[in-house]
Amino acid sequence: MGKATGFLEYERRESQAIDAKERIKNFNEFHIPLSTEEQQRQGSRCMDCGVPFCQSGMTIKGMTSGCPLNNLIPEWNDLVYHGNWEQAYLRLHKTSNFPEFTCRVCPGLCEKACTCGLNGDPVTTRENERAIIEYAYAHGLADAKPPVNRSGKKIAVIGSGPSGLAAADQLNSRGHAVTVYERNDRVGGLLRYGIPNMKLEKQIIDRKTAVMEEEGITFKTNVDVGKDIKPKELLAEYDAVILACGASNPRDIQAPGREAKGIYFAVDFLTSTTKSLWDNGLKEGTFISAKDKDVIVIGGGDTGNDCVGTCMRHGCKSITQLEMMPKAPDERRESNPWPQWPLVCKTDYGQEEAIAVFGHDPRIYTTTVKEFKKDRSGNLKSVILVSLESKTDEKTGRRMMVPVEGTEKEVPCQLVLIAAGFLGSQSYVTDAFKVKVDGRTNVATEAGKFAASVDKIFTAGDMHTGQSLVVKAIRQGRDCAREVDEYLMGYSNL
Ligand SMILES: Cc1cc2nc3c(=O)[nH]c(=O)nc-3n(C[C@H](O)[C@H](O)[C@H](O)COP(=O)(O)OP(=O)(O)OC[C@H]3O[C@@H](n4cnc5c(N)ncnc54)[C@H](O)[C@@H]3O)c2cc1C
Repeated sequence: MGKATGFLEYERRESQAIDAKERIKNFNEFHIPLSTEEQQRQGSRCMDCGVPFCQSGMTIKGMTSGCPLNNLIPEWNDLVYHGNWEQAYLRLHKTSNFPEFTCRVCPGLCEKACTCGLNGDPVTTRENERAIIEYAYAHGLADAKPPVNRSGKKIAVIGSGPSGLAAADQLNSRGHAVTVYERNDRVGGLLRYGIPNMKLEKQIIDRKTAVMEEEGITFKTNVDVGKDIKPKELLAEYDAVILACGASNPRDIQAPGREAKGIYFAVDFLTSTTKSLWDNGLKEGTFISAKDKDVIVIGGGDTGNDCVGTCMRHGCKSITQLEMMPKAPDERRESNPWPQWPLVCKTDYGQEEAIAVFGHDPRIYTTTVKEFKKDRSGNLKSVILVSLESKTDEKTGRRMMVPVEGTEKEVPCQLVLIAAGFLGSQSYVTDAFKVKVDGRTNVATEAGKFAASVDKIFTAGDMHTGQSLVVKAIRQGRDCAREVDEYLMGYSNL
């Protein structure tokens, strides 16, 4: 610990966000990083507290507290303070394949569990991580380092999201020949087509995958495994296959009029913007547009917020985000103490932007859609909203949100975006590989393991756990790689 009194002397300072009305004029990331000097000062706020919950990644009350990658946070915070950026990068790289992704999109489980945050403001660990990895790229530390020896073993990874990429990176570093198959036109999974540019500019993915290619990994895009290529062929060619296809089955909304034109799933909407931006700079007619429309986003979570932020950039006429549950408290409840994940209401970037432009929070709580109304041409023209209340089901004893009769209200709406969560993996892949799935259609394995029910086949990421977080997907990919390495070599030093 470099500076024993850092946390007493310095206040937390974060990178500055560009003003909401200004940043919605484009799709760029919108935080201006701190100066190197200030970032080092922020590093000195780490207390090296002796019980670093920030790096624990443990589960408390079903929620993760601290970093799932067990990043050695107090160590590199100290190295940041001392300006020893090279050592900081080496410590960070020991546990994390993709700090450039997590420093941008992770909700910062580490910071929520930071001891400094118990009575004050936590250390800016996520931004310290960003400063380390950007220094590493700028100074050649993150350049390609191909493995010296090759094992002669071949591995196919299906899916190029963070879990597949992490597994590929780890196994390639052990000298195995890794090929990543991706059905989309570009690699990255939801990092590419899901998470919008404002949170993660796509050249950040390309920068890393170019390094991975130089290190020897082969990427095959536009290949839909199970359709374009049969599992039998893959199993004949490779010594192991990792299924890392994500959990992309969206939860639908069942209400009369669902067939109206103008209702989309969130990821399809977000993908169309990202793809169009990259292909042709968002040329009209090449993406699902919210311009001049009254938009309703169904789902109050992070995906819903990404839809709000994207609609704000399109220039929507109005935006409403529906949440079935009541508003979370503004402060932690006593039953939800530190270092648990704080169950509080947060106002995210998209909601901030809607407030700045329209003057009110776009979220409406305990509300859902009862009916979609269309015009003569079948286009969506309005929706009937209904309030919900919590009731106990007499048969099951479970609490449920049920409609309150007489609260119906018709509102104009020409675009609905469904961001109501995901139901698990897609059956054409699991059927093709004949692997067992659990009740939630996640690929089944023994607890804490990654081998599927069919020899040679392993699984990782959302396809294994259900929709989760980038940082957890990376952890899954790393742990799966270790098991595959053991399977192939009889031991593993990963
Ligand atoms: C809109 C949105 C925003 C999100 N924002 C955040 C965030 O800010 N922070 C965060 O931590 N998490 C976020 N998440 C969650 C996070 O993105 C996922 O948990 C994570 O990407 C899962 O990684 P994965 O590798 O398991 O799967 P994915 O990222 O889903 O990647 C799976 C890949 O497999 C490919 N694939 C599927 N089937 C086949 C096949 N048959 N053949 C070839 N390829 C195939 C898919 O095309 C996809 O590219 C967000 C999720 C969504 C939907």
